[in-house]
Amino acid sequence: MNGCVIAGIGTEIGKTLVSAVIVEALSADYWKPVQSGGLEHTDTDAVKALVGPHERVFHPEAYRLRVPASPHAAAAAQGVVIEADRLTLPKTERFLVVELAGGLMVPLNEDTLTIDMVQRWGLPVVLVASYYLGSINHSLLSIEALRRRNIAVSGLVFNGDPVPETRAIILSYSGLDSLLDIPYTDSVSPSFVAARAREFPTKALTMTSKAIRGRAHGSSAMTGRRALCADDLRFDRDHLWHPYTSMTAPLPVYPVASASGVRLRLAGGEELIDGMSSWWTAIHGYNHPKLNAALNAQMQDMSHVMFGGITHKPAIDLGRKLLALTPQGLEHIFFADSGSVAVEVAIKMAAQYWQAQGLAEKTKLLTIRGGYHGDTFQAMSVCDPVTGMHELFRGVLPTHFFADRPRVQFHQPWDAADLTSFETLIAENHAAIAAVILEPIVQGAGGMRFYHPDYLRGVRKLCDRHRVLLIADEIATGFGRSGTMFACNHADITPDILCLGKALTGGMMTLAATLATRQVAHGISQGEANGGLFMHGPTFMANPLACAAANASIDLLLSSDWQQRVQTLQHELTLGLAPCKDLASVAEVRVLGAIGVVEMNDPVDVAALQREFVKRGVWIRPFAKLVYVMPPYIMEEDDIRALTRAMVEVLRGV
Ligand code: PMP
Repeated sequence: MNGCVIAGIGTEIGKTLVSAVIVEALSADYWKPVQSGGLEHTDTDAVKALVGPHERVFHPEAYRLRVPASPHAAAAAQGVVIEADRLTLPKTERFLVVELAGGLMVPLNEDTLTIDMVQRWGLPVVLVASYYLGSINHSLLSIEALRRRNIAVSGLVFNGDPVPETRAIILSYSGLDSLLDIPYTDSVSPSFVAARAREFPTKALTMTSKAIRGRAHGSSAMTGRRALCADDLRFDRDHLWHPYTSMTAPLPVYPVASASGVRLRLAGGEELIDGMSSWWTAIHGYNHPKLNAALNAQMQDMSHVMFGGITHKPAIDLGRKLLALTPQGLEHIFFADSGSVAVEVAIKMAAQYWQAQGLAEKTKLLTIRGGYHGDTFQAMSVCDPVTGMHELFRGVLPTHFFADRPRVQFHQPWDAADLTSFETLIAENHAAIAAVILEPIVQGAGGMRFYHPDYLRGVRKLCDRHRVLLIADEIATGFGRSGTMFACNHADITPDILCLGKALTGGMMTLAATLATRQVAHGISQGEANGGLFMHGPTFMANPLACAAANASIDLLLSSDWQQRVQTLQHELTLGLAPCKDLASVAEVRVLGAIGVVEMNDPVDVAALQREFVKRGVWIRPFAKLVYVMPPYIMEEDDIRALTRAMVEVLRGV
């Protein structure tokens, strides 16, 4: 979208006049998201009265508040809470002028500042300054705040009779240009506005607006980032490995320049509605101001410090949050740096535990077919033997026990016979088995299947009966994806060891955790073989930036109505994907929580399907026979429908 935000260095600075000038200069649309006070003659009314009769829209305010006070206070006075999600930019093809209420650091509610919204909108800012005692300070502080968040500033507009020294100091310290100087007048009229509009350097404004479209929220001059060119793509193709592709015949890749909310912006400027949450991670969408702010703040203290012999608040805070959130009984946490490593750590814990108990022969794992646990060697060895890489790495991979894949689906009536294969294997081999490892309820990358909670309950009982540890891999399912905070909650069980990753940091960066019960942790520590030490220690263990992102992400999740959001996604995905059931090429359609799956009869042509999806403005990456989505929880109904509509349309052509 093309547009700009009109911000002032304080209140009563002339934002409305400047807005009118720019609306006039560019025949732009106008939007005042929050009007507090002056409802009998709003800023929208004022701008309307000052500009000529061109084709343009005055978009309605999202909030009209009676009390002339700071927005959060005005809202509170009439028992309203301003919701950030209701302040989404109105859709328009024209240039949009957005006039703020008050200064940038003015709160909108308990946890959103006005500048948070500016950052989320991704539009450049025109800063209106005036001449008063303190205006240099207020101007430079506002500019610094914008720059810290990589928000582009198009320039300043000075309002009032100039004090040349003040003007010169603000411009020289900020390095910004003055777009316009508006001398004081006590009779602001349409002709005054029209004259200023003719002087306004519209090009400077449309250029910054265009320049930041398709780029993260900041001008390249400020951030040092540059646009991607054809040569970059050639380098990528010739030298960079992407997941599961060939170096000589790679699958096509789409250059993404930035991402915000539920949209990915391609380098060419096209926007795609994101159906993948970047592989289960970005549950709050992209470029979330709270997550960005958490990283910015943590960076000021330290980005990284070793965890050997050192500890820090972000890790301790995160530890507390995880213990409070995860199934009762898990008490000890090992922070790892990726999901696969968390799985390795879990397997190592199980092995060390039994060694410490004097049962060193318990080294094998038992799992269920159709699983996926990562790409490192132990993790691969418990992935589905057919769709996993067992053939490829025969002789290198350790061998383990595989029970039949659960047949009874999540919503079907339970049948105890589903557990027979598992029951037989564990009964016959428990003396050699250290642990069962499985993905509770949702088998993800191994087939996207949802099985019955009674299966999981049965597994828990059998593990207890046969003295085998239970490792739950909730790397994909953790943090609400299946409708409960953790998939284990569907069966109300506590595993002995739990692996978390992916959405742990809200998709900001890599971090994983392996949690263990007291029995497991103390059991390992009582072992004699190695002085009771648990033998793992990644370089970036408990990275403070990642922990800070995770803390912010968990806070955000808990303060949101995530259950309702996931329910809505489940409902919309069920409705939207239903037409796929009638297609001859489709084997089954399944939905659980915020996961929607269309299983085809045959493997799909990934590159061809992706091309079709991108043409329709959505981002979906199928694999094998599966075309599936797990959107960010914040996705609105319209976008979910666009996503499922594109799936139906594209799959109709298969
Ligand atoms: N376990 C599960 C259930 C997963 O879905 C994944 C990732 N797809 C992993 C483990 C491995 O995580 P990572 O890719 O972070 O190593």
